[in-house]
Amino acid sequence: MKRRNFIKTAASSGLLASASLLSGAAQSQTSSKRTQIKWKMVTTWPKNFPVLGTGANNLAQLITEMSGGRLKVKVYGAKELVPAFEVFDSVSRGTAQMGHGAAYYWKGKTEAAQFFSTVPFGLTAQEMNGWLYHGGGMELWQETYKPFGLIPAAAGNTGVQMAGWFNKEIKSMADLKGLKMRIPGLGGEVLKRAGGTPVSLPGGEIFISLKTGAIDATEWVGPYNDLAFGLHKAAKYYYYPGWHEPGSTLEALINKQAMDALPADLQSIVLNACKVVNQDITAEYTARNQLALDTLVKKHKVNVLKLPDDVLSTLQRLSDEVVNELATKDSMSKKIFSSFENYRHQVKKWTDISELAYLQAR
Ligand code: CA
Repeated sequence: MKRRNFIKTAASSGLLASASLLSGAAQSQTSSKRTQIKWKMVTTWPKNFPVLGTGANNLAQLITEMSGGRLKVKVYGAKELVPAFEVFDSVSRGTAQMGHGAAYYWKGKTEAAQFFSTVPFGLTAQEMNGWLYHGGGMELWQETYKPFGLIPAAAGNTGVQMAGWFNKEIKSMADLKGLKMRIPGLGGEVLKRAGGTPVSLPGGEIFISLKTGAIDATEWVGPYNDLAFGLHKAAKYYYYPGWHEPGSTLEALINKQAMDALPADLQSIVLNACKVVNQDITAEYTARNQLALDTLVKKHKVNVLKLPDDVLSTLQRLSDEVVNELATKDSMSKKIFSSFENYRHQVKKWTDISELAYLQAR
């Protein structure tokens, strides 16, 4: 039966309403097939690595689900499509439409990027989100990545990390001299100023480097992630607090051309899925870190030690020097530093009488 004849017959038999519904459903099915967009997400993490890799998986799944399958995102672990440290270039070129990593990995592209992962002795996760979402940070981040054809989004925060794994006790600053340590970003610059040698390595290469003695020490994230890499099998002393990474933002990178090609609702879904994952990753670390630390201490007999106060205060002084110098490197860094510092001074006062006062009291 031809469609026109069918409608005529259907109308006369009172079936027109259900026929339209059927035809509407068929149409939207055809149009959803026609407009299905496929994106690749490359990451700096080993595939399915706890929280980091699985967080990237969740982000891809959320976008796919929230869009009703109209935008399908497939995740690639480090080295699957491109090596970890080529994620930025690969999304910038459009080889992949999205990436997941951390901004301090890209200091070779633009020094200013480092402000958007973490600053030694800088902001906590909660404070960082305040700056990014409501303190002008996100606009500055967008401006920083614009020349690369990239749109950034916060997509996870580790909270305060651990200071790292060492094969000797750190009793004074002298113990950091000559130390070859995996430590990225501005923290690495601080170590250099303390007489050490910072090394930048993607997560997947840390364990073997420490085990073989290619490096003397490393930091990674915190108990849950460090246990997963088996770092306790390569070093004995586990130090806190992570002065160099007090609340590291993980980032989603989005190719601007690919984003611009999306309809407005899909653009909103991409950015809001990042917001969901940004919070969820912090929640997962908060829930899992202490259980992992218990395992490291009780089962693997790891020595958990606090860095001496005078070491921390010297590192803070060196950090201030490093961050102040970064601000003089280019106009973008100067502009970001000014926003960051203003925010840090005002938010610290509030944190002191809210979070800090409460934590000391409980
Ligand atoms: Ca780290």
